[in-house]
Amino acid sequence: MALLPCRLTVTADPAGDVRLSSADQHPFARAVGAVAIAIAESAASGTWTRLKSCPGRRCGWAFYDRSPAARSQWCSMQLCGARAKMRAYRGRQARRAYPGDQLPRPDQVLESGT
Ligand SMILES: [Zn+2]
Repeated sequence: MALLPCRLTVTADPAGDVRLSSADQHPFARAVGAVAIAIAESAASGTWTRLKSCPGRRCGWAFYDRSPAARSQWCSMQLCGARAKMRAYRGRQARRAYPGDQLPRPDQVLESGT
């Protein structure tokens, strides 16, 4: 990963409010600075831990956890959450049907299902 330098300016008004702004001229460096400022402001306000990455298969979306307890795991309970629950349910069903290490190979499942 390469490092991209970006310069930020800190200004404070007489009321004591502190503000960060990008001090770069290049548009890409200004965009990186804007992201850095958003991260710093989120960390300062305590909302950074609510920005999460969905662990759903082939998902990986970033989402903001708006739940009261900040314990959401999925980007969408209707999509990734429901799929994970269904996968867990089917796994439990398979373990009940084939206890131990006797899970059938996929071709065996097809043969017995036809
Ligand atoms: Zn997801």
